[in-house]
Amino acid sequence: MNRRIVLASRPAAEPTAENFRLETDLALPEPGSGEMLVKNLYLSVDPYMRGRMSDRASYARPVALGEVMVGGTVARVVTSRADGYAPGDVVVGYGGWQDYAIFSTKDRQLLKVDPSLPISTALGVCGMPGVTAYFGLNKLGQPKPGETVVVSAASGAVGSVVGQIAKLKGCRAVGVAGGPAKCAYVTSELGFDACVDHRAPDLAGALKAACPGGIDVYFENVGGKVLEAVVPLLNDGSRVPICGFISQYNAEDPVTPFTVLGALPKPPAHRFFLVWEWPEEYPGAVAELVAWVKAGKIRYREDIVDGLAAAPGALIGVLRGDNFGKKLVRLED
Ligand code: NDP
Repeated sequence: MNRRIVLASRPAAEPTAENFRLETDLALPEPGSGEMLVKNLYLSVDPYMRGRMSDRASYARPVALGEVMVGGTVARVVTSRADGYAPGDVVVGYGGWQDYAIFSTKDRQLLKVDPSLPISTALGVCGMPGVTAYFGLNKLGQPKPGETVVVSAASGAVGSVVGQIAKLKGCRAVGVAGGPAKCAYVTSELGFDACVDHRAPDLAGALKAACPGGIDVYFENVGGKVLEAVVPLLNDGSRVPICGFISQYNAEDPVTPFTVLGALPKPPAHRFFLVWEWPEEYPGAVAELVAWVKAGKIRYREDIVDGLAAAPGALIGVLRGDNFGKKLVRLED
């Protein structure tokens, strides 16, 4: 039988456990032609899920009330009616918050998982968040050796990869993260040149001290007061890939980076991007990330909780900054 977590109600501000409902004893779905029944092994917990819980206009369709919560999963094929996929294969796709799901070969995000790394990495450093960092920095940030790249949420799934790629490209990498433990990890484990704690007093002064030559690329994950501290340090010709602005996701009247940057007398080059904008280059990006991780050039950290019922709390925690590394729910190892 299947179990799943559905959206029970829409949050007005911060989500609560009451916005979700666990449903049990459901019949297993039947795969059609070109489809496979999969058993989810790991669920990814990502900030964008907060947006899907609202019915505000967005680039993506909201989750309907009573519908299973959306989400990336690493899964094992149970039965297959799809060419090229056999029982036992480990795949990554969008299985949602449930034990069993149907994957289709028509899903553009469906990929086989590289067996040479832990399978959980297909949802983090070598999956959607890692590829987000890769495309956002390379395509929009276009970092050059010697430039200063600043990234917010620097210890997280996306930010940790942004700073490490910036280092591989010969840049000065400066992170912004919440609390001394995350900042210490960002510099000592990930090799950033500096990391500034956005919870400490005088964020603006600390960021200025960490960026003596100003900022050439600001990879925006957070918005709010971090963006305010970044703005005065932006150099002429700077680029701001807008990946997300998590500090505003629970706000009733969010202030977006487009509003803040667009109002500047000389705005930097900035735009929102989606990880799925370069689908034909996606597998190549995954392959390069896998190679970097295997060579020890990119390091990663995961923050794993167990059991389907832990998923709502995990998402609520990510939106508060409780996670330390890529947040995952393990259903089965
Ligand atoms: P993380 O693993 O970085 O987890 C989220 C982190 O955000 C928290 O740990 C916390 O880190 C930080 N945070 C939360 N609330 C606040 C706040 N109020 N102020 C400052 N920081 C806060 O998540 P991801 O790496 O998965 O996602 C990072 C960003 O990338 C998000 O904005 C997300 O929406 C975006 N994204 C965009 C994609 C795209 O295609 N455009 C694809 C994937 C992600 P700390 O404690 O350090 O503050």
